[in-house]
Amino acid sequence: MQTNFTSDQRARPEVREMESILRKCVHCGFCLSDCPTYSILGDERDSPRGRIYLIKELIESDGKSAKFVMPHLDKCLSCLACTSVCPSGVDYQHYVDFARSYIEPFTKRTIPDSFLRWFLARTIPNPHWFRLSLVAASLLRPISGLLGRRIKSVIKLLPKKIPLNSTLSIPQSFPAVGKPRLRVALLAGCAQQVLRPSINEATIRLLNRLGCEVVLSKGIGCCGALVNHMGRQNEAREFAKANITSWNNEIEERGLDAIVVNTSGCGTEVKGYSHLFKNDEIWHGMAERISFLTKDITELLTEIDFPTSANMQHHTIVYHDACSLLHGQKIEQEPRLLLKSVGFDVKEIPGKHFCCGSAGVYNLIQTEIAEILKLRRLEAIEKIEAEIVATGNIGCQVQLQTGLKRPVVHTVELLDWATGGPSPPGT
Ligand code: SF4
Ligand code: SF4
Repeated sequence: MQTNFTSDQRARPEVREMESILRKCVHCGFCLSDCPTYSILGDERDSPRGRIYLIKELIESDGKSAKFVMPHLDKCLSCLACTSVCPSGVDYQHYVDFARSYIEPFTKRTIPDSFLRWFLARTIPNPHWFRLSLVAASLLRPISGLLGRRIKSVIKLLPKKIPLNSTLSIPQSFPAVGKPRLRVALLAGCAQQVLRPSINEATIRLLNRLGCEVVLSKGIGCCGALVNHMGRQNEAREFAKANITSWNNEIEERGLDAIVVNTSGCGTEVKGYSHLFKNDEIWHGMAERISFLTKDITELLTEIDFPTSANMQHHTIVYHDACSLLHGQKIEQEPRLLLKSVGFDVKEIPGKHFCCGSAGVYNLIQTEIAEILKLRRLEAIEKIEAEIVATGNIGCQVQLQTGLKRPVVHTVELLDWATGGPSPPGT
């Protein structure tokens, strides 16, 4: 794609990087059929190719076209399905992250939209505030019929029961059972530890049983993905700096073999810390070290000797790919092979590459598109005979569980169950 950036614009290293990304796009359009928003809206401006072009114009016009670009950028799920099919290797992930941050100062949002974004950015990354807001929002459930459409959609996503606070969220170390093989840090997450603490509990039990000491380091908080996807890249860097500092201290003091993440949206973000600090001489080296050590839980389990003696053949699972795992981290076979190795009968969803509409806080902001995508996914799942739905991301779990009677559980909860742990809640 041809560009007309000025020398002033090119003086910014980020703009030079964006130019090199978008020059790779050859307009072939292979990405269009895999883009969920294009499949719904049928408008080229809501496709990857269209957005790439709009963002190019946004930078060329020094933000003057922001008003016209913003609605199309806001509708993008950042599902990255386009990156899985692009033959030219266009790095849409970093391109769109930069654009979201670039456009924000030129954007005038409505008061309700600004408030919602501010509220989500303040509450979700903080487990205490998030728990409180869940409790407050659930009090509104009986009168949800009187509230606006958007609030009604948000209330529909609330869990029926908010689990008790888990002691596992406190910084501590969990020793390996038997001879220690590895020492790993676990990202306890922010929303996940409130919505479903059993995921971290299963992860720790399973890793301990497999000979891994698991550390919850002091000072670790939200990974920053949530604010990054809302165009608040500076806030994302602050979250990242706290985590990078804490994990680097852990590495210096007692050593770490890996940083394990069991929420794929967060895993994609932490693996991207290196890129987030690409132009920062002070932080880049440390960030790179952290990104290099970061593994999704299924990646780590695939690398170590995972016991295959369990027999779960009488359980049929339908596996839902979280976009951040499938497209963001290109992890497709690991969870399937692990589940099959302990005997689960694993079924596939047709059109598995399509997002379920969860996409971070997308289902709270773009409620209509998110609902269409959810219904599509539920319809596909309903046709499959399976007793449990498995996935690797809490956002997808919440999104799908609101429309399904069957339990939606995390892959690691099933693997823990198969190797001696309790059955996952709801099964
Ligand atoms: S990230 Fe997803 S929604 Fe956005 S352009 Fe790519 S495929 Fe479409
Ligand atoms: S598939 Fe890649 S190269 Fe082709 S139009 Fe889409 S982004 Fe551009």
